[in-house]
Amino acid sequence: MNQAQVLTLPAKAIICEVAPRDGFQAEPEWIPTEQKVRIVRELAKTGIQMMEITSFVHPKAIPQLKDAEEVVRQVQDLEGIKLRALVPNIRGTQRAIDAGIKKLKLMLSATDSHSLSNANCLVEEAQEGFKPIIELAEKHRVKVGGSISVAFGCPFEGKVPLERIVTIVERYKQMGIDEISLADTTGMANPKQVFDLLGHLKEAFSHMTFSMHLHNTRGMALANAVAALQQGVIHFDSSIAGLGGCPYAPGATGNIATEDLVHAFSEMGIETGIQLEPLIRVAGYVKETLGHDGGSCMLQAGPSSQLHARPKNQQKLAD
Ligand code: ZN
Repeated sequence: MNQAQVLTLPAKAIICEVAPRDGFQAEPEWIPTEQKVRIVRELAKTGIQMMEITSFVHPKAIPQLKDAEEVVRQVQDLEGIKLRALVPNIRGTQRAIDAGIKKLKLMLSATDSHSLSNANCLVEEAQEGFKPIIELAEKHRVKVGGSISVAFGCPFEGKVPLERIVTIVERYKQMGIDEISLADTTGMANPKQVFDLLGHLKEAFSHMTFSMHLHNTRGMALANAVAALQQGVIHFDSSIAGLGGCPYAPGATGNIATEDLVHAFSEMGIETGIQLEPLIRVAGYVKETLGHDGGSCMLQAGPSSQLHARPKNQQKLAD
């Protein structure tokens, strides 16, 4: 008899909670610092081990994150949780280092049109500009990771050619970067594309660590996460209550909800170290605090382990 095929997936995955950056920056109403800190603290209790805590952008560019230093200062005592921050330039890098952040993420777009609206320069220029940032971080022994926004599709240019991604990853590699976050910023990726691109990148850049940042704009984020798992990728970003967006990508909606990702992974036997029940409670708290969520199946339907009483008239099933 032939051996039936089974799907082999990694035994564990590492989830980085990005709501404090990606989620909050998409909120039009000011979220008071103490509310941000409260949400971060509640999240930390669920077993989340990594968080993208803020972005050190110019306060005029994203006023919602103007309290970056203060948020970081007020969560310094949290144990067992690594904080990462996004930095757009050398000034932001200095601010992040001064605030005590030990891990930075660079912001880069895959396409020139997204880069022009995001960073006001072409992709290659933007990437060249990372050199002094990396030098400064190295001097302070701060780890720097790269990112590629709109890596799977750009709202202005459509599909992104593989060669373009390879060129960007190659430049990152030459700068000494060994961790790259691939972002589906506006939810244009599909599972086959994710599987194929990661397969190519993992073969061409076998010493690099790739992570996935998936928005659920078109309902494909979870399927894309599974495609990434099938390629052995174990690092994922997600956002509590599905918060998030992209200020420079029209119509972009939230990241895959952390509670949905943890639930799906747990159902498939993939350990994340995050407790689902408290996490769903935090999602509920976030929704209540901000007045909305960004799309959360767990808030809508609850986990699949949560069964309901059978209807009373099921005679045939009785005893
Ligand atoms: Zn995002």
